[in-house]
Amino acid sequence: MSGHSEHMLQDAIEKLKESGVRITPQRHAVLEFLIEAEIHPTADDIYKALEGKFPNMSVATVYNNLRVFRELGLVRELTYGDSSSRFDWNTTKHYHIICESCGKIVDFHYPSLDEVESLAEQVTGFDVSHHRMEVYGVCQECKHEKHQII
Ligand SMILES: [Zn+2]
Ligand SMILES: [Zn+2]
Repeated sequence: MSGHSEHMLQDAIEKLKESGVRITPQRHAVLEFLIEAEIHPTADDIYKALEGKFPNMSVATVYNNLRVFRELGLVRELTYGDSSSRFDWNTTKHYHIICESCGKIVDFHYPSLDEVESLAEQVTGFDVSHHRMEVYGVCQECKHEKHQII
């Protein structure tokens, strides 16, 4: 684990302790995986990555942990209209680019489009809370694979 990740892990553990959440070895492992993974994993991804280490763990346990983290504001849940929510450790504002071939989600930083929110508010009379923008395409690995097949 890099120093930065280690620091984020310690911060998260502090926050959990302050909220009275018990740090079980499984919970610790899920946290660690979330911080290290840059793919915005699904609960299933996390389960598959950790089941070897924790044979007693179930997908439901992973979900429960993720729910606790989400309620404390440690992770953001990205829903896609199906059962496969993805979990984002980085709760600061950023945008996502999604690979249409493998489903990978990568962060990219662009100044927040606040003017879109204020315009939407003016035009519709809604109280705008946030917005979500996603860019789609084919990632470098998938592009590379395609070339190899051809
Ligand atoms: Zn891809
Ligand atoms: Zn993200």
